[in-house]
Amino acid sequence: MRILLVEDEMAIARFITEGLEEEGFSVDVAHNGKDGLRLALDDSSMYDLILLDWMLPGMSGIEICRAIRREDPRIPILFLTARDTVDDVVFGLETGANDYLRKPFAFEELLAGYGYCCEPPKGFVMSLQCGTLSWMWRRTRSPGPERR
Ligand code: CA
Repeated sequence: MRILLVEDEMAIARFITEGLEEEGFSVDVAHNGKDGLRLALDDSSMYDLILLDWMLPGMSGIEICRAIRREDPRIPILFLTARDTVDDVVFGLETGANDYLRKPFAFEELLAGYGYCCEPPKGFVMSLQCGTLSWMWRRTRSPGPERR
């Protein structure tokens, strides 16, 4: 399983990368929009999931998502975003993202989001501890429990 993470905040990128690698995923990281898009569209990459920050230097997550969707309508894309108004979320999904995670989020919620847009592998563990981060999970397509 290969995952592309496009995230300019180093601490968040490190947190996500380490957690995913512990779960056995292979993770490539881009710290700006242009690098992210280049990796996403590189034929040799073939990612199973793209995690896309919304606010990025160079090129926004929205622009990247649109550009990826023009080339590949199927690859799962999750937005990582601090923008949480209903309008923002609807707009984000209209660009072709599968779902979004609102920052700050816990690692297990990221894994849950992954399972939501592409079936998790058998025996998938979603119990990673994440220190003191507080988080809230909200699904955008179906009513679900809000957790804190
Ligand atoms: Ca950012």
